[in-house]
Amino acid sequence: MVRVRVRGGAPEAGAARRADRHIRRVGLFALPPLLVLAFVLLWAAAGVGAAPGGTLRVHFLDVGQADSIFVQAPGGHAILIDGGNNADGPAVVAYLRKHGVARLDAVIATHPHEDHVGGLDDVLKGFLVSTVYMPNVTHTTRTFEDFVDAARRAGKRIQAKAGVKPNIPGITAVFLAPVGSGYPDLNDYSAVLKLTYGSVSFLFTGDASAASEGQMLASGADLHATVLKVGHHGSSSATTAPFLRAVAPRYAVISVGAGNPYGHPAPVTLGRLKQAGVTVFRTDQQGTVVASTDGKSVRFSLSKAGTAAAAGSAVAAAHAAGSQNITVFVTKTGHKYHRQGCRFLARSQIPLTLAEAKAQGYTPCSVCNPPQ
Ligand SMILES: [Zn+2]
Ligand SMILES: [Zn+2]
Repeated sequence: MVRVRVRGGAPEAGAARRADRHIRRVGLFALPPLLVLAFVLLWAAAGVGAAPGGTLRVHFLDVGQADSIFVQAPGGHAILIDGGNNADGPAVVAYLRKHGVARLDAVIATHPHEDHVGGLDDVLKGFLVSTVYMPNVTHTTRTFEDFVDAARRAGKRIQAKAGVKPNIPGITAVFLAPVGSGYPDLNDYSAVLKLTYGSVSFLFTGDASAASEGQMLASGADLHATVLKVGHHGSSSATTAPFLRAVAPRYAVISVGAGNPYGHPAPVTLGRLKQAGVTVFRTDQQGTVVASTDGKSVRFSLSKAGTAAAAGSAVAAAHAAGSQNITVFVTKTGHKYHRQGCRFLARSQIPLTLAEAKAQGYTPCSVCNPPQ
Protein backbone atom coordinates (compact mmCIF):
# COMPACT_ATOMS: atom_id res chain seq x y z
CA MET A 1 0.00 0.00 0.00
CA VAL A 2 1.16 3.48 -0.78
CA ARG A 3 0.06 5.92 1.83
CA VAL A 4 0.20 9.62 2.33
CA ARG A 5 -0.81 11.38 5.50
CA VAL A 6 -1.34 15.05 6.14
CA ARG A 7 -3.34 17.47 8.18
CA GLY A 8 -6.74 18.39 6.88
CA GLY A 9 -8.02 21.51 5.21
CA ALA A 10 -9.24 24.74 6.68
CA PRO A 11 -12.57 24.88 8.54
CA GLU A 12 -15.54 25.59 6.40
CA ALA A 13 -16.95 29.02 5.98
CA GLY A 14 -20.68 28.67 5.56
CA ALA A 15 -22.00 29.46 2.14
CA ALA A 16 -24.57 27.90 -0.13
CA ARG A 17 -26.74 27.19 2.88
CA ARG A 18 -29.86 28.65 1.44
CA ALA A 19 -32.09 26.30 -0.46
CA ASP A 20 -32.87 23.09 1.30
CA ARG A 21 -34.71 20.50 -0.60
CA HIS A 22 -36.27 20.94 -3.96
CA ILE A 23 -38.69 18.43 -5.26
CA ARG A 24 -39.66 19.33 -8.75
CA ARG A 25 -42.93 17.73 -9.67
CA VAL A 26 -42.08 17.87 -13.31
CA GLY A 27 -40.49 15.61 -15.84
CA LEU A 28 -37.97 13.25 -14.34
CA PHE A 29 -38.88 14.26 -10.84
CA ALA A 30 -42.61 13.67 -10.68
CA LEU A 31 -43.40 12.02 -7.35
CA PRO A 32 -46.66 10.64 -6.01
CA PRO A 33 -47.77 12.59 -2.90
CA LEU A 34 -47.47 9.52 -0.65
CA LEU A 35 -43.86 9.08 -1.66
CA VAL A 36 -43.23 12.72 -0.88
CA LEU A 37 -44.70 12.20 2.59
CA ALA A 38 -42.61 9.06 3.09
CA PHE A 39 -39.58 10.96 1.91
CA VAL A 40 -40.17 13.83 4.33
CA LEU A 41 -40.61 11.37 7.21
CA LEU A 42 -37.46 9.52 6.21
CA TRP A 43 -35.66 12.80 5.96
CA ALA A 44 -36.69 13.69 9.48
CA ALA A 45 -35.66 10.28 10.78
CA ALA A 46 -32.33 10.35 9.01
CA GLY A 47 -30.99 13.13 11.20
CA VAL A 48 -31.28 10.89 14.26
CA GLY A 49 -28.66 8.34 15.17
CA ALA A 50 -25.70 9.86 13.36
CA ALA A 51 -22.67 8.12 14.77
CA PRO A 52 -20.10 10.62 16.01
CA GLY A 53 -16.48 10.02 15.08
CA GLY A 54 -15.37 7.26 12.75
CA THR A 55 -13.79 7.28 9.34
CA LEU A 56 -15.04 8.70 6.07
CA ARG A 57 -13.78 6.67 3.12
CA VAL A 58 -13.95 7.84 -0.47
CA HIS A 59 -13.16 5.23 -3.12
CA PHE A 60 -12.32 6.55 -6.58
CA LEU A 61 -12.90 3.34 -8.51
CA ASP A 62 -10.66 2.45 -11.39
CA VAL A 63 -13.28 2.25 -14.13
CA GLY A 64 -11.04 3.34 -16.99
CA GLN A 65 -12.18 6.38 -18.96
CA ALA A 66 -15.18 7.04 -16.70
CA ASP A 67 -16.18 8.05 -13.17
CA SER A 68 -17.43 5.99 -10.25
CA ILE A 69 -16.94 7.12 -6.67
CA PHE A 70 -18.11 5.21 -3.61
CA VAL A 71 -18.42 7.13 -0.34
CA GLN A 72 -18.67 5.38 3.03
CA ALA A 73 -19.81 7.93 5.61
CA PRO A 74 -18.51 7.62 9.18
CA GLY A 75 -21.96 6.53 10.38
CA GLY A 76 -22.11 3.70 7.84
CA HIS A 77 -24.24 5.45 5.23
CA ALA A 78 -23.26 4.83 1.64
CA ILE A 79 -23.28 7.06 -1.44
CA LEU A 80 -22.39 6.24 -5.01
CA ILE A 81 -21.49 9.02 -7.43
CA ASP A 82 -21.70 7.70 -11.01
CA GLY A 83 -21.31 4.09 -12.08
CA GLY A 84 -18.75 3.99 -14.88
CA ASN A 85 -19.50 2.84 -18.43
CA ASN A 86 -22.14 0.24 -19.30
CA ALA A 87 -19.60 -2.57 -19.08
CA ASP A 88 -18.46 -1.45 -15.61
CA GLY A 89 -21.84 -2.13 -13.93
CA PRO A 90 -21.09 -5.66 -12.68
CA ALA A 91 -17.64 -4.65 -11.37
CA VAL A 92 -19.07 -1.64 -9.53
CA VAL A 93 -21.80 -3.85 -8.01
CA ALA A 94 -19.16 -6.41 -6.99
CA TYR A 95 -16.98 -3.71 -5.42
CA LEU A 96 -19.89 -2.42 -3.34
CA ARG A 97 -20.86 -5.95 -2.25
CA LYS A 98 -17.26 -6.65 -1.29
CA HIS A 99 -17.44 -3.62 0.97
CA GLY A 100 -20.58 -4.84 2.68
CA VAL A 101 -23.05 -2.49 1.02
CA ALA A 102 -26.65 -3.68 1.19
CA ARG A 103 -28.29 -0.34 0.69
CA LEU A 104 -27.25 2.95 -0.84
CA ASP A 105 -28.57 6.07 0.83
CA ALA A 106 -27.88 8.17 -2.23
CA VAL A 107 -27.00 7.45 -5.83
CA ILE A 108 -25.86 10.51 -7.74
CA ALA A 109 -25.89 10.51 -11.52
CA THR A 110 -23.80 13.59 -12.27
CA HIS A 111 -24.97 13.88 -15.89
CA PRO A 112 -26.34 11.62 -18.64
CA HIS A 113 -23.12 10.66 -20.45
CA GLU A 114 -22.45 6.94 -20.67
CA ASP A 115 -19.14 7.07 -18.81
CA HIS A 116 -21.11 8.30 -15.75
CA VAL A 117 -24.54 6.63 -15.84
CA GLY A 118 -23.63 3.55 -17.91
CA GLY A 119 -23.22 1.13 -15.01
CA LEU A 120 -25.82 2.73 -12.75
CA ASP A 121 -28.76 0.61 -13.97
CA ASP A 122 -26.97 -2.48 -12.64
CA VAL A 123 -26.37 -0.72 -9.33
CA LEU A 124 -29.99 0.43 -9.06
CA LYS A 125 -31.20 -3.12 -9.73
CA GLY A 126 -28.64 -4.66 -7.36
CA PHE A 127 -29.21 -2.61 -4.21
CA LEU A 128 -31.90 -0.92 -2.21
CA VAL A 129 -31.49 2.75 -3.06
CA SER A 130 -33.05 5.48 -0.94
CA THR A 131 -32.69 8.45 -3.24
CA VAL A 132 -31.39 9.08 -6.74
CA TYR A 133 -30.08 12.58 -7.39
CA MET A 134 -29.70 13.75 -10.97
CA PRO A 135 -29.71 17.07 -12.82
CA ASN A 136 -32.81 18.04 -14.77
CA VAL A 137 -31.58 17.18 -18.23
CA THR A 138 -32.20 14.30 -20.59
CA HIS A 139 -30.25 12.61 -23.31
CA THR A 140 -31.56 10.49 -26.16
CA THR A 141 -29.41 7.42 -25.76
CA ARG A 142 -30.37 3.88 -24.90
CA THR A 143 -27.90 4.00 -22.00
CA PHE A 144 -29.57 7.03 -20.46
CA GLU A 145 -33.05 5.58 -20.97
CA ASP A 146 -31.95 2.35 -19.25
CA PHE A 147 -30.68 4.41 -16.35
CA VAL A 148 -33.89 6.48 -16.10
CA ASP A 149 -36.03 3.32 -16.19
CA ALA A 150 -33.98 1.80 -13.38
CA ALA A 151 -34.08 5.07 -11.41
CA ARG A 152 -37.88 5.24 -11.72
CA ARG A 153 -38.18 1.73 -10.34
CA ALA A 154 -35.66 2.40 -7.58
CA GLY A 155 -37.84 5.02 -5.89
CA LYS A 156 -37.31 8.64 -4.97
CA ARG A 157 -35.68 10.97 -7.45
CA ILE A 158 -34.54 14.44 -6.48
CA GLN A 159 -33.22 17.07 -8.80
CA ALA A 160 -29.56 17.81 -8.16
CA LYS A 161 -28.80 21.52 -8.38
CA ALA A 162 -26.95 24.18 -6.46
CA GLY A 163 -28.19 24.45 -2.88
CA VAL A 164 -29.77 20.99 -2.57
CA LYS A 165 -28.49 19.21 0.53
CA PRO A 166 -28.64 15.42 0.63
CA ASN A 167 -29.03 14.29 4.22
CA ILE A 168 -26.15 11.98 5.06
CA PRO A 169 -25.79 11.61 8.83
CA GLY A 170 -22.32 12.39 10.11
CA ILE A 171 -21.22 14.52 7.18
CA THR A 172 -22.33 17.70 5.43
CA ALA A 173 -23.36 17.33 1.80
CA VAL A 174 -24.41 20.10 -0.57
CA PHE A 175 -24.67 20.42 -4.32
CA LEU A 176 -22.86 23.47 -5.70
CA ALA A 177 -23.91 22.92 -9.33
CA PRO A 178 -25.58 23.05 -11.70
CA VAL A 179 -26.28 26.66 -10.85
CA GLY A 180 -28.39 27.30 -13.94
CA SER A 181 -29.74 25.56 -17.02
CA GLY A 182 -29.68 25.81 -20.80
CA TYR A 183 -26.06 24.76 -21.15
CA PRO A 184 -24.98 23.89 -24.70
CA ASP A 185 -22.57 21.31 -23.29
CA LEU A 186 -24.20 18.44 -21.38
CA ASN A 187 -21.10 18.26 -19.17
CA ASP A 188 -22.00 21.61 -17.60
CA TYR A 189 -25.18 20.09 -16.17
CA SER A 190 -22.95 17.94 -13.96
CA ALA A 191 -24.16 17.70 -10.39
CA VAL A 192 -21.21 18.95 -8.32
CA LEU A 193 -21.25 17.70 -4.75
CA LYS A 194 -19.25 18.96 -1.81
CA LEU A 195 -18.84 16.71 1.22
CA THR A 196 -17.42 17.98 4.47
CA TYR A 197 -16.36 15.95 7.47
CA GLY A 198 -14.68 17.90 10.25
CA SER A 199 -12.02 20.05 8.62
CA VAL A 200 -11.67 17.80 5.56
CA SER A 201 -13.75 18.32 2.45
CA PHE A 202 -14.16 16.75 -0.97
CA LEU A 203 -15.43 18.32 -4.17
CA PHE A 204 -16.84 15.95 -6.78
CA THR A 205 -17.18 17.79 -10.05
CA GLY A 206 -18.37 15.20 -12.55
CA ASP A 207 -17.56 16.61 -15.99
CA ALA A 208 -18.38 20.23 -15.08
CA SER A 209 -16.40 22.50 -17.36
CA ALA A 210 -15.49 26.16 -17.64
CA ALA A 211 -19.05 27.52 -17.94
CA SER A 212 -20.22 25.72 -14.80
CA GLU A 213 -17.02 26.54 -12.94
CA GLY A 214 -17.58 30.24 -13.71
CA GLN A 215 -21.12 30.05 -12.36
CA MET A 216 -20.03 28.25 -9.20
CA LEU A 217 -17.49 31.01 -8.61
CA ALA A 218 -20.12 33.69 -9.25
CA SER A 219 -22.59 31.95 -6.91
CA GLY A 220 -20.42 32.84 -3.93
CA ALA A 221 -20.47 29.28 -2.64
CA ASP A 222 -17.53 28.12 -0.57
CA LEU A 223 -15.65 26.03 -3.12
CA HIS A 224 -12.69 25.22 -0.93
CA ALA A 225 -11.94 21.51 -0.67
CA THR A 226 -9.10 19.40 0.66
CA VAL A 227 -9.55 16.86 -2.14
CA LEU A 228 -10.71 17.74 -5.65
CA LYS A 229 -12.08 15.16 -8.06
CA VAL A 230 -10.71 16.84 -11.15
CA GLY A 231 -13.46 17.83 -13.60
CA HIS A 232 -13.99 15.99 -16.89
CA HIS A 233 -11.16 13.45 -16.53
CA GLY A 234 -8.56 16.23 -16.55
CA SER A 235 -9.76 17.75 -19.83
CA SER A 236 -8.43 21.20 -20.71
CA SER A 237 -12.05 22.40 -20.74
CA ALA A 238 -12.24 22.11 -16.94
CA THR A 239 -10.14 23.06 -13.90
CA THR A 240 -9.76 26.66 -14.98
CA ALA A 241 -7.19 28.71 -13.08
CA PRO A 242 -9.71 30.83 -11.10
CA PHE A 243 -11.69 27.72 -10.13
CA LEU A 244 -8.57 25.90 -9.00
CA ARG A 245 -7.55 28.93 -6.95
CA ALA A 246 -10.93 28.99 -5.21
CA VAL A 247 -10.96 25.25 -4.49
CA ALA A 248 -7.30 25.35 -3.41
CA PRO A 249 -7.09 21.60 -2.94
CA ARG A 250 -4.15 19.78 -1.38
CA TYR A 251 -4.97 16.65 -3.32
CA ALA A 252 -6.59 15.94 -6.63
CA VAL A 253 -7.83 12.69 -8.11
CA ILE A 254 -8.15 12.24 -11.86
CA SER A 255 -10.44 9.42 -12.97
CA VAL A 256 -9.15 8.55 -16.40
CA GLY A 257 -8.41 5.61 -18.69
CA ALA A 258 -4.91 4.78 -19.85
CA GLY A 259 -4.36 5.66 -23.50
CA ASN A 260 -7.80 7.23 -23.92
CA PRO A 261 -8.48 8.83 -27.32
CA TYR A 262 -9.21 12.27 -25.81
CA GLY A 263 -5.72 12.92 -24.53
CA HIS A 264 -7.01 13.17 -20.94
CA PRO A 265 -5.62 14.36 -18.69
CA ALA A 266 -4.54 17.44 -20.63
CA PRO A 267 -0.96 18.58 -20.05
CA VAL A 268 -2.25 22.11 -19.38
CA THR A 269 -4.47 20.81 -16.55
CA LEU A 270 -1.65 18.76 -15.06
CA GLY A 271 0.55 21.84 -15.32
CA ARG A 272 -1.96 23.98 -13.41
CA LEU A 273 -2.27 21.38 -10.68
CA LYS A 274 1.48 21.07 -10.42
CA GLN A 275 1.96 24.80 -10.28
CA ALA A 276 -0.60 25.00 -7.49
CA GLY A 277 1.38 22.42 -5.52
CA VAL A 278 -1.43 19.86 -5.59
CA THR A 279 -0.61 16.18 -5.08
CA VAL A 280 -2.28 14.33 -7.94
CA PHE A 281 -3.54 10.76 -7.97
CA ARG A 282 -4.62 9.09 -11.22
CA THR A 283 -6.72 5.98 -11.59
CA ASP A 284 -4.96 5.09 -14.87
CA GLN A 285 -1.66 4.92 -13.05
CA GLN A 286 -2.59 4.00 -9.49
CA GLY A 287 -5.79 2.04 -9.93
CA THR A 288 -8.57 2.54 -7.42
CA VAL A 289 -7.64 5.40 -5.09
CA VAL A 290 -9.10 5.36 -1.58
CA ALA A 291 -8.99 8.45 0.62
CA SER A 292 -9.66 7.86 4.33
CA THR A 293 -10.15 10.63 6.84
CA ASP A 294 -11.03 11.06 10.50
CA GLY A 295 -12.07 14.63 9.76
CA LYS A 296 -8.60 15.95 10.55
CA SER A 297 -6.09 14.24 8.29
CA VAL A 298 -6.36 12.34 5.01
CA ARG A 299 -4.64 9.11 4.06
CA PHE A 300 -4.55 7.66 0.57
CA SER A 301 -4.36 3.99 -0.39
CA LEU A 302 -3.51 3.28 -4.02
CA SER A 303 -4.67 -0.13 -5.16
CA LYS A 304 -2.64 -0.60 -8.32
CA ALA A 305 0.73 0.42 -6.96
CA GLY A 306 -0.39 -1.01 -3.62
CA THR A 307 -1.66 -4.35 -4.85
CA ALA A 308 1.12 -4.89 -7.35
CA ALA A 309 3.95 -3.80 -5.09
CA ALA A 310 2.60 -5.23 -1.84
CA ALA A 311 1.50 -8.54 -3.33
CA GLY A 312 4.72 -8.85 -5.32
CA SER A 313 6.94 -8.14 -2.38
CA ALA A 314 4.84 -10.33 -0.06
CA VAL A 315 5.25 -13.26 -2.43
CA ALA A 316 8.94 -12.54 -2.80
CA ALA A 317 9.31 -12.29 0.97
CA ALA A 318 7.49 -15.60 1.49
CA HIS A 319 9.77 -17.29 -1.03
CA ALA A 320 12.82 -15.76 0.54
CA ALA A 321 11.70 -16.79 4.02
CA GLY A 322 11.15 -20.36 2.84
CA SER A 323 14.42 -20.73 0.99
CA GLN A 324 16.31 -19.05 3.78
CA ASN A 325 15.20 -21.74 6.21
CA ILE A 326 16.41 -24.59 4.02
CA THR A 327 20.03 -25.65 4.18
CA VAL A 328 21.66 -27.27 1.17
CA PHE A 329 25.29 -28.20 0.44
CA VAL A 330 27.73 -27.49 -2.32
CA THR A 331 31.25 -28.67 -3.02
CA LYS A 332 34.43 -26.69 -3.58
CA THR A 333 34.44 -27.27 -7.31
CA GLY A 334 30.93 -28.40 -8.33
CA HIS A 335 28.06 -26.39 -9.84
CA LYS A 336 25.25 -28.33 -8.17
CA TYR A 337 23.70 -28.06 -4.72
CA HIS A 338 22.78 -31.19 -2.76
CA ARG A 339 20.87 -32.65 0.14
CA GLN A 340 22.86 -33.62 3.16
CA GLY A 341 24.22 -37.15 2.64
CA CYS A 342 24.35 -37.03 -1.16
CA ARG A 343 27.21 -39.15 -2.47
CA PHE A 344 28.66 -36.20 -4.37
CA LEU A 345 29.42 -34.54 -1.04
CA ALA A 346 32.09 -37.13 -0.14
CA ARG A 347 35.03 -34.76 -0.70
CA SER A 348 33.71 -31.41 0.46
CA GLN A 349 30.49 -30.27 1.99
CA ILE A 350 29.83 -26.55 2.29
CA PRO A 351 26.49 -25.59 3.88
CA LEU A 352 24.51 -22.61 2.66
CA THR A 353 20.87 -21.68 2.40
CA LEU A 354 18.81 -22.65 -0.60
CA ALA A 355 18.39 -18.94 -1.41
CA GLU A 356 22.12 -18.40 -1.32
CA ALA A 357 22.77 -21.45 -3.47
CA LYS A 358 20.31 -20.27 -6.09
CA ALA A 359 21.58 -16.71 -5.94
CA GLN A 360 25.10 -17.99 -6.58
CA GLY A 361 23.99 -19.93 -9.65
CA TYR A 362 24.05 -23.48 -8.25
CA THR A 363 21.48 -25.84 -9.75
CA PRO A 364 19.85 -28.85 -8.02
CA CYS A 365 21.60 -32.21 -8.14
CA SER A 366 19.70 -34.73 -10.24
CA VAL A 367 20.74 -37.61 -8.02
CA CYS A 368 19.69 -36.41 -4.53
CA ASN A 369 16.94 -34.17 -5.86
CA PRO A 370 17.19 -31.36 -3.26
CA PRO A 371 14.40 -28.80 -2.65
CA GLN A 372 14.07 -26.17 -5.38
ZN1 LIG B 1 -17.04 11.84 -18.34
ZN1 LIG C 1 -19.57 13.94 -19.79
